[in-house]
Amino acid sequence: MAKVYFYYAAMNAGKSTVLLQASYNYRERGMRPLLFTPSIDTRYGTGRIESRIGLRSGAISLAPGDNLLTRVRGEHTDKPVACVLIDEAQFLTAEQVWQAAEIADTLDIPVLCYGLRTDFRGKLFTGSATLLAIADDLSELKTICHCGRKATMNLRVDKAGRAVREGAQIEVGGNDRYVAMCRRHFKAALVAGSAPHSASPFPFPYPGSTAASNPPFPRSTPMTQSASPFSAFPAKPQSAQPLPKPHAP
Ligand SMILES: [Zn+2]
Repeated sequence: MAKVYFYYAAMNAGKSTVLLQASYNYRERGMRPLLFTPSIDTRYGTGRIESRIGLRSGAISLAPGDNLLTRVRGEHTDKPVACVLIDEAQFLTAEQVWQAAEIADTLDIPVLCYGLRTDFRGKLFTGSATLLAIADDLSELKTICHCGRKATMNLRVDKAGRAVREGAQIEVGGNDRYVAMCRRHFKAALVAGSAPHSASPFPFPYPGSTAASNPPFPRSTPMTQSASPFSAFPAKPQSAQPLPKPHAP
């Protein structure tokens, strides 16, 4: 029996990279994956999935009113579909998540959804909430805060790098508007209205970075040692040295 999978994460954990690797693995075996991306995400043009490390693919653009089940059934009739891959699944409507369940249950096609768990206020997106409620399989793709802890929150920052507390839930404006953080630093940033610039030196090499061009918030770094797109990323960075903590006891 096919399942609905939800791979959730904070920003910049490499969700699109993992999706595109899964797509490649299916195609390599001569099977046909069907890729979708909500039309709300137009960062890379409509109908396209692009990862920050340079992988990209065409995808079917899905508007909020589109019926996912009808679309997949039509494609499946033309030529068998081995799996459905959905990027930015937090933007799905509740109806579309139930349609995804129908694809698994009646067409027997696995549906792999990749998306953010929460928005910049720490609230669930509709798509994520529905997936957390009804998906068969939940997996977290891990990334880290600048302090080395797992990042679970997404801080929105303005152009000056200040933390944003209010605003529309959906504001697709590029990854640089968001910083993945652990809950502790997310809360601290919201209280302070900005990040502790010097208290938390970024512990990882960051190509092209200089003191002058560094953003006010250190960027999160996905851990990409994992060989299989289906395996979880390691929970801790695999460095020989323990990560420096921002506040020594
Ligand atoms: Zn932290």
